[in-house]
Amino acid sequence: MTTADIGAGRRRITAARGPALRCKGWRQEALLRMLENVLEVGERPEDLVVYAARAKAARNWPAFDAIVRALLDLEENETLVIQSGKPIAVFPSHRMAPLVLMANSNIVGAWATRDNFDAYEAAGLTVWGGYTAGDWQYIGSQGIVQGSYEAYAAVAREHFNGDLRGRLLVTAGMGGMGGAQPLAATMLGAACLVVEVEPERIQRRIATGYCEKMATDLDDALAELDEARKRGEGLSIALVGNAAEVLPELVRRGITPDVATDQTAAHDLLRGYVPPGLTTAERDALASSDPDKLRDLVLDAQARHMEALLAFHQKGAVVFEYGNLLRKHAAERGVSNAFDVPVWMDRYIRPLFCRGIGPFRWVAVSGEDSDINTLDEMLLEMFPDSPTIPRWIPLARKHIRTQGLPARIAWLGHGERAKFAVAVNDAIAEGKLIGPIAFTRDHLDSGSVAQPLRETANMQDGSEAIADWPFLCALLDATGMADLVALHGGGAGYTGLRQSSGVTGIADGTPEARERLDHVFTMDSGIGVLRYADAGYPEAIEAVGKTGLRRILV
Ligand code: NAD
Repeated sequence: MTTADIGAGRRRITAARGPALRCKGWRQEALLRMLENVLEVGERPEDLVVYAARAKAARNWPAFDAIVRALLDLEENETLVIQSGKPIAVFPSHRMAPLVLMANSNIVGAWATRDNFDAYEAAGLTVWGGYTAGDWQYIGSQGIVQGSYEAYAAVAREHFNGDLRGRLLVTAGMGGMGGAQPLAATMLGAACLVVEVEPERIQRRIATGYCEKMATDLDDALAELDEARKRGEGLSIALVGNAAEVLPELVRRGITPDVATDQTAAHDLLRGYVPPGLTTAERDALASSDPDKLRDLVLDAQARHMEALLAFHQKGAVVFEYGNLLRKHAAERGVSNAFDVPVWMDRYIRPLFCRGIGPFRWVAVSGEDSDINTLDEMLLEMFPDSPTIPRWIPLARKHIRTQGLPARIAWLGHGERAKFAVAVNDAIAEGKLIGPIAFTRDHLDSGSVAQPLRETANMQDGSEAIADWPFLCALLDATGMADLVALHGGGAGYTGLRQSSGVTGIADGTPEARERLDHVFTMDSGIGVLRYADAGYPEAIEAVGKTGLRRILV
């Protein structure tokens, strides 16, 4: 680990690379590098914030240091226990047991309110782990870009004959996840306008190849996008501005995009969304001095923002919420038709989830780019008939630059994940890959989340709020001998709104890793397919039959 002081006692962490072990084994070392990596690629690492305004890698710096010490000392037959970013204990376990078990930001049902979360966090009792921050799996915007691409591709297939050439896509938010939007849009040929209040965030996305241009004038941006649209060429322009002002201005001008959505951190009324008239720093000051006033301003702004999206919707644009609670907050402010707009998961992604296809990803913890290339080749060879892989991998290779440790996201389905992870472990054993490779997936997957306003919105059997599935998923992951298993509740703006689980499995070329990876990535996506089959989705019932899952019918 490199840890540099960046002034005022603030630290910047980068992940270790290379063959030298600091821990007592590669499994421990890989998890330590994953922890370092989420801070290397995170949005505000000096505050341990990885993404989504408040999602943290550890409780505080002393807890971070204690986790690092524990991982350095951890034997391969021990298990480290972490509670909301704070290490609690190391238990003697056994060589096939998880090395790390975590529970992050879980609060008992009736107590799980936004205000209680803020109070518990202020009292030092919890922090929010997001999906992939608290369990050290975030890989930067490259981890979400395929999700955005799959959503936009589904929009293109359904509404625009397969691509977005000649189409204007308007969105906002260029943060950790939102920053992937312009690249995903231009991969499909769209002319993409992204509104973002913070020029620094825009510059960061331009520097890392996620966005092409920055503009400060709406007219200039629109004119340039119009030209690109007429030529049928993809172009992304990020406009410095506030979405709650720019989108209503587009409505006033009678400009209706073809596609519109949003990825500002609208979920967090105190630290996520910036209301018009305030800078981010002024918003932060008001969050401390007068949180009620700030909440009021933000809810008003989100209502105006949502009204503009609804106006686009009414004029025929394809509009969807990107799962950031914009509809919920607007509805709280009296925008009664906010839920006329669907959420992307329910509208475009569910058919993939029914087959266990979701955001699987891997990290070359050695730092070796060549391993990612070899894995790309293996994927193309192993899954020529996949609905995602032959299309995605060439695009990813062409457009996505490495952020942090070399990594790749590729939406693989149930059966495919275990097969691939085992093949990778074999390739390490045979010396064809340097390794080790850490496999994870996003929590926004088929079996690992219940979030009634997003991933599980409008389940056809009404099971959207049934949280047994992510618990079962985590239990199965531990039974399957994953290296890290985490159970996350919703925190910050998502308090009380979701339950999810995360998993990491390390391929190090050993026979034990082969056994672990096979079990864990079979059970992990298997419970997802079974859950959708249980809800009666025909695609899932068919996938159960095709993949040999032993479903019990009652
Ligand atoms: P982030 O905090 O890293 O970035 C948010 C960005 O929004 C910041 O750059 C901020 O400056 C900008 N912003 C805030 N208010 C604005 C305004 N009024 N106008 C323009 N820009 C504004 O957050 P992130 O990690 O990018 O995530 C964004 C949101 O998308 C979150 O709510 C997240 O939960 C959601 N999301 C959901 C899914 C899903 O459905 N599973 C997937 C990805 C992201």
